[in-house]
Formats: sequence, structure tokens, C-alpha cells
Amino acid sequence: MEKCSVIVPCYNEEDALPFFYEEMNKVAASMQDKLEFEYIFVDDGSVDGTINIIRSFAKEDERVHYISFSRNFGKEAAIYAGLKKAVGDYAVMMDADLQDPPTLLPEMYEAVKNEGYDCAATRRVTRKGEPWLRSIFARLFYKIMNKMADLNMVDGARDFRFMKRNMVDAICDMGEYNRFSKGIFGWVGFKTKWLKYENVKRVAGKTKWSFWKLFRYSIEGIVAFSTAPLVWTSLIGLLFFFIAVALLIFVFIRALLYGDPVDGWPSTICIITFFASVQLFCNGIIGIYISKAYLELKNRPIFIVRDEA
Ligand code: UDP
Ligand code: MG
Repeated sequence: MEKCSVIVPCYNEEDALPFFYEEMNKVAASMQDKLEFEYIFVDDGSVDGTINIIRSFAKEDERVHYISFSRNFGKEAAIYAGLKKAVGDYAVMMDADLQDPPTLLPEMYEAVKNEGYDCAATRRVTRKGEPWLRSIFARLFYKIMNKMADLNMVDGARDFRFMKRNMVDAICDMGEYNRFSKGIFGWVGFKTKWLKYENVKRVAGKTKWSFWKLFRYSIEGIVAFSTAPLVWTSLIGLLFFFIAVALLIFVFIRALLYGDPVDGWPSTICIITFFASVQLFCNGIIGIYISKAYLELKNRPIFIVRDEA
């Protein structure tokens, strides 16, 4: 029988995990004539009792495997570790908080098995239960990202994806340090079916994302999958070069015609501060790219395993 690996990144999920395990088992049982399951829980350096709960699952249930990180490496690293460990013909990533409903699994499996897709992905069509400011910025991010990067990112897309082995292998081959999953999934291509569902509230525990964390995450996504900001800085530079030449000619001719009254101080200061800030801004953008290249070059491991089973 074919096997499906369920990868669950967990960071301080002791409250949610029992619910997840119960729900997931129900769905696994309902599909047992078609698919065999293995669970890979990735404990992303949790500081609560998450690992004990996972170990207790593993003790009773031989389908359960786990990786425990030496510290918190982030969800992207956890997904990567899980995908590398997965041995199934299919793999699916699911949050531990039941915001990715396991009840969608039969439909996802159907799409990949019988409808000719390589992958079934999910998107939320509502953002109910989310702070409105967060929704606005999330929408804005997808708009900007799709304009800038050469890949199509779907608004509201979740990391909840059911993939065939060939796609899993393609993703594992992308060993980059700055991992932006939403971009990586899009970049590898393959035929993807999008399933829609309504946003579900987290079953227990708290979200790990603050607004500031999300903001940094979006900058990372842009930097990882687009070099457009670098082009912009050059264009801004070019634009101001032409403005400077025009100004120069104007000042020169004025001096020839009317002499040189020394009264240009305020405007000079304005111009200097303006250009200084533009230059700093552009330097900053370039600096971000260099720092990312620097981290990539160090070739550090994406995660460090403390314990595994
Ligand atoms: N997560 C993780 N490492 C982190 C942050 C989150 O493995 O550093 C996991 C978390 O345990 C959950 C999933 O990623 O299973 C999604 O996190 P969360 O529910 O907090 O995000 P949201 O659904 O609010 O976007
Ligand atoms: Mg969640």
C-alpha cells in the first residue's frame, strides 16, 4: 500500500497536540484502505512539554516518528527537516493547531492520485478571526510579491500541501539557508490544485507570529525570491543623475546671466539631506542582499538535531 508522511512542525504546542493527534487518527482510520500513514513531528526547540507528548505518542504508536531540534530554528527549518526524514510516496505538511483541517486530506489525495495533479495545496478564502491590520498587510504583501518576483504566490495560501514524491525530492534538493517555503513551493513548479476553505480558529495555544515577526518574514520572502529592489535602486540613481544634470545646467546658465548671489543655502541643505537619505536607503537594500549572500556562503546547517526517533 502507498504511504503518506504527515509532517507536523511544533513549537510549544503541548495544548494543541493531543487534539491534533486525535483528529488526525480519525482521518487516517477513514482512509486506511487506501493509504498508510507515518507521522513526523518536528519539535522546533519547544520550551514546554511538547517533546514529552510526542514521545508518549511514539511509545504507543509505531507510525509516529519525531525530530527534536537543539533550539528554535523556525517553521521553515522544521518543514525541511520533516520532508528530509519522510519516506512516504506522498508527504503533507500540517500545523499542529488544527488550522489545517485533516478532513481535507481525502480530497487532496483524490486530486493527486486520480486527477493528474502533483500537488494539492490549500488557501483560505476568509481571514476571519485575524486582526484586521494583519489582513490588510498580508494582502498588500501578496500584491507586492507577485509584482516583483517571477513566481505566482497565491493570496491566503497555506503551507498545508499534499505532494507527490517527485515534488518532495525537488524541494529537498533546494538546500538554501534562507528558506521561504511559500516561494520554494512555487518555484519548483509542478501541477497544483488549489482547494479553498474557510479560516479555522486555532484549537488551543497561541499563535507564534507577532506583527513584527510577520513583517520581517515578508522582507525575507522578497529578498529570497526577487532582485527587483536592486534594479529599483539603480533606476532611482539614474533618474536622479538626469535631474542633477538638468539642475547643473540651470545653475550654470543662471550664474552666467545674473552673476552669483550667495543665497542658495536652504535649497543646498535640502538637496544634500535628500540625496543622503536616498543613498542610505539604497545602501540598506544592497546591504540586505549582501548579508543574505553572506549567510548562504557560510553554509551553516539549516537545523541541528538533538534527538530523533
Ligand atoms: N511553528 C514552528 N516553529 C516556529 C513557529 C511556529 O514549528 O518557530 C509551528 C507551530 O507550532 C504551528 C505552525 O508552525 O504548528 C504554525 O504556527 P502558528 O499556528 O503559530 O501560525 P499561524 O497559524 O498563526 O500563522
Ligand atoms: Mg496556526
